[in-house]
Amino acid sequence: MEIIKKIEEIKKISKLKSVENEKFFEIFRDFNEELKKSYDKPVKNFYQQLTKIINCRECGNCCRDIIIVFEKDDIPLLSKGIGKSEKEIVEQDFIFYEKHKVYIMNQSPCKFLKGNECSIYPFRGTECREFPYIETKEFSKIYNYVFQGYSICPFHFNIVEFVKNLSVDNLKIN
Ligand code: SF4
Ligand code: SF4
Repeated sequence: MEIIKKIEEIKKISKLKSVENEKFFEIFRDFNEELKKSYDKPVKNFYQQLTKIINCRECGNCCRDIIIVFEKDDIPLLSKGIGKSEKEIVEQDFIFYEKHKVYIMNQSPCKFLKGNECSIYPFRGTECREFPYIETKEFSKIYNYVFQGYSICPFHFNIVEFVKNLSVDNLKIN
């Protein structure tokens, strides 16, 4: 399959395929656990191929298009990295989201994004380190986030297309 890297193109395709993707997500969600797990290894292998093609330094779109979340434990490292007190950071740069006990950045794109790169890379938060999740997590556990990221992240976009292709023999999407 053709790998698409450009976010502008991904956003266009995403609009065109929104109904197809919604239907496919519903079908995938209803798969039993065993069937879902059968996608874990192929997706992981495909992700490894994608890492040779997609370069986050040429993209940075997750730092523009998603809500920036820092956990409480991320704040001391950030404080050290930017030379600002923890108190100032949580009062000036974030809003505390009581329901999930996390800090949400009060602006988007992220204030630490410079061009397409993170200016505080060694001090970034847990969520920033884990996104797009495939490196450390099994697809069957996080597929809903991957589908949500279809129009945002080239990794997620291509993985969803890959999963749809894998399923084509078994399913009628339309
Ligand atoms: S802290 Fe860095 S990695 Fe995290 S959202 Fe901001 S720019 Fe991106
Ligand atoms: S994780 Fe995805 S959206 Fe973020 S910079 Fe890398 S390719 Fe782009």
